[in-house]
Amino acid sequence: MKVEDKVLDLAKRRGFVWGPSPNIYDGGLAGFYDWGPLGKLLKNKVENVLKKGFMGFGFWEVECPSIMPAKVWEASGHLDGLTDYVTNCNKCGSAYRVDHLMDDVEDTDPDKLKALLKKRKIKCPSCNKGTFDNVEKRNLMMKTGVGLDQEVFLRPETATTTYLLFPELYRFFRTKMPFGVFQIGKAYRNEINPRQGVFRTREFTQAEAQLFILSEQEKKFEKFKEFSSETFPLMKYGSKKTVNVKLGDVVKKKYMKTEAYSYIVYVAYKLVKDMGFDPKKIRIRQHNPNELVHYAKDAWDIEVNTDRYGWFELCGVHDRADYDLKQHSKFSKTKMEVSGEIPKILEIAFGLERTTYALLENSLIDDKKRDWLSFDKGMAPIDVAVFPLMKKDGMDKVAKETFEELDKEFVCVYDSSGSIGRRYRRMDEVGTSFCITIDHDSLKKKDVTIREVSTMKQARVKISNLKTLVRELLSGDLDFKKIK
Ligand SMILES: [Zn+2]
Repeated sequence: MKVEDKVLDLAKRRGFVWGPSPNIYDGGLAGFYDWGPLGKLLKNKVENVLKKGFMGFGFWEVECPSIMPAKVWEASGHLDGLTDYVTNCNKCGSAYRVDHLMDDVEDTDPDKLKALLKKRKIKCPSCNKGTFDNVEKRNLMMKTGVGLDQEVFLRPETATTTYLLFPELYRFFRTKMPFGVFQIGKAYRNEINPRQGVFRTREFTQAEAQLFILSEQEKKFEKFKEFSSETFPLMKYGSKKTVNVKLGDVVKKKYMKTEAYSYIVYVAYKLVKDMGFDPKKIRIRQHNPNELVHYAKDAWDIEVNTDRYGWFELCGVHDRADYDLKQHSKFSKTKMEVSGEIPKILEIAFGLERTTYALLENSLIDDKKRDWLSFDKGMAPIDVAVFPLMKKDGMDKVAKETFEELDKEFVCVYDSSGSIGRRYRRMDEVGTSFCITIDHDSLKKKDVTIREVSTMKQARVKISNLKTLVRELLSGDLDFKKIK
């Protein structure tokens, strides 16, 4: 079995991802997935890295509705601009995005696209018989209604809903610029033909941070100095090579235009590293400056190398300039100026499902003896498993007490069924950080065996020290080898 198929099999079998959802009704709806108990735990850990990380870098969290009136999307440009060009097979009816059939074409005129499909005699990939006669421009936003007849849209991104808060936020931050906020929540896009599993879904969770800032502050950014000796792997547009560049040199060497922008690219990169992705599998790639969406001044993606789809974007970092506040100021007739200037916005946009799944794939290890997941410190869905060696002589009682104590602070499971070897294997497979076994000696000496999944090393420790020890091990403050 290929690595990516093993991951899919494991994800289904052990309760990480199920779908398409709802599976029991006609095999589900394409582009919608369920996160099972272990998948949800892992997704929470990824979300926590972002939440804590953003807060650590000075961003504050907000939450906005996921439904907004049409006028918002008219102002943001999504009503007109968030579109795909779609075509149907004249034999079997299958729908395709034109850019998936001809990925080298950049034209956006439906008639020209139609002519090109004909000229190149593009055949339908589904039935291999039909061709394509029509091209239609389709908006990707999902429409619904509120009240009796008001037309509204499910948000295609959280970012716009955050921008609408600018007047309130500006007052909250006591009119001091720059300031940062982030939002984690659901967004929706009606992908015509979602084909990349959990990497491209119609409903997804975003974690998006926004830095509101003035022009002069962008050029000379206060926090830039603090991290200027850190390096990150940059791949400039047009280059095939990734170069490690010091944050302090990024503007000087003309990779990016401002200190503030290079700083937030660094923030995004740092958070991906904090999730435990192998640094060799991370790169930061610049978008083609000629293909940027109309409002963006610069855009770089944090990509990781996946077995299934190769290099894949987990996060986009966008210099949105003053586009958003200018538009919303104009359409809402609300003043959004600071000292005569409309603030600029720098954005970090993470997709949580694709990040979680990529982490799952990156963590699978097949060392011929066993298939198991190896997560970075504290990132495994389950922190600790507690086993009584046998269900007798009071071992189960001590094990239960130990479990209950640890469960107050960590994600814990209790397992007393099957041989110890089988119980270890079950936990290894899902990457559980530590297994604790209570045996005969535990009853007399009040100690237990603790085993680390990644090294299979064991140590004997006092029950009374267990909580502090696990806490230090999970945070990375203590190395397993150093346990005395
Ligand atoms: Zn067809």
